Amino acid sequence: MRSVIFIAPPAAGKGTQSKLLKEEYGYIHISTGDLLREEINNNTEIGIKAKDIMNAGGLVDDETIISLVKVKLENLNGKPFILDGFPRTLNQAKELDKMFNELNIDDYKVVYLTVPVELALQRALGRITCTKCGTSYNIYSEKLKPMVDGICDKCQTALVKRTDDNEESFKNRFETFTVSSKPIVEFYEEKNKLVYIDSIESDKCHETMKETLND
Ligand code: ADP
Repeated sequence: MRSVIFIAPPAAGKGTQSKLLKEEYGYIHISTGDLLREEINNNTEIGIKAKDIMNAGGLVDDETIISLVKVKLENLNGKPFILDGFPRTLNQAKELDKMFNELNIDDYKVVYLTVPVELALQRALGRITCTKCGTSYNIYSEKLKPMVDGICDKCQTALVKRTDDNEESFKNRFETFTVSSKPIVEFYEEKNKLVYIDSIESDKCHETMKETLND
């Protein structure tokens, strides 16, 4: 299977699609949002610096993010990987290209997940996640609700809402994405790496994704 880089607005379904690919094909999931949240939980220097920026829906500085990603890419041992949440600026995309050259990585696709903004907002506002196993639920969806309110179906751990999943932060994240994704899209279009996949229905999206990464 090819590796994949996701470009997508907040709450478009990157996490859900990543989880499916990981379970089915053993992809290494590199989520910069998760890496930063881990830094915050561990109260590291990076975490302390990133916390307020993330809550407001802004972007953490390129240097910090690139250093986190680099370590992960250097330890793949040849496995296919998913980049979820990176690159988010043109500079990050260019730096990623340098890392790929150094590490001889070229077998990948850049998948742009498309989703209407109202649906993404609803997904963000209803999203709750298990702190232990990472499973995501949505209180506004009959299909994605947990069986017992606030408790993970799989490991019975309490579910939490991300502190940046509120309307104001979502709008900032969406706006930031709209502006900063344009040059990234052009960058990967020129390289002939970009594909668009509709992310309204998660099952359909997953099927198209598999075809794209396998062809
Ligand atoms: P979402 O896609 O729902 O916005 P993520 O978990 O991907 O959520 O990211 C959460 C936050 O982490 C972002 O709003 C941003 O503050 C920070 N972040 C994640 N990835 C990057 C990145 N590549 N560059 C800068 N900031 C990032």
